[in-house]
Amino acid sequence: MDLDALYQEIILDHYKNPHHKGLREPYEAEVHHVNPTCGDEVTLRVHVSGAGEDAVVEDVSYDAEGCSISQAAASVMTDLVIGKPLAEAMSVHETFLALMQGRGAVEPDEDVLEDGIAFAGVAKFPARVKCALLSWMAWKDATSQALDQTATPVTEETR
Ligand code: ZN
Repeated sequence: MDLDALYQEIILDHYKNPHHKGLREPYEAEVHHVNPTCGDEVTLRVHVSGAGEDAVVEDVSYDAEGCSISQAAASVMTDLVIGKPLAEAMSVHETFLALMQGRGAVEPDEDVLEDGIAFAGVAKFPARVKCALLSWMAWKDATSQALDQTATPVTEETR
């Protein structure tokens, strides 16, 4: 199987069977991001525990609509950040960003990016890069909002 076919299969697999999909509680911040060039939308919540260097990504939940690339990217992103120390998750984000901005010239590191390597093929198409980055940008935005607050999770009782 050639690499492009393998990448396509990984993306289709996440699109058909998205991981961690659905909006969950508790969470500290919720954001809604839109990719107007393609029509992709994502509503995303983050639950972060601890603060500073001890911060941990406890959960990332989302509801996504749009193309297969944007939805598969959300699924892969949650696999890569949930349960990790925030600093490590941010470092994975930087690695993914470098891959997507590399216009197909960056060799993906499977040890860091796992299924995220499948988006190496997408990086060759500038119009689709925003699709792959939408949920990552939403995650980064929501996380910085969550860190700005004193960590009181939003629950049914406190909303
Ligand atoms: Zn898209």
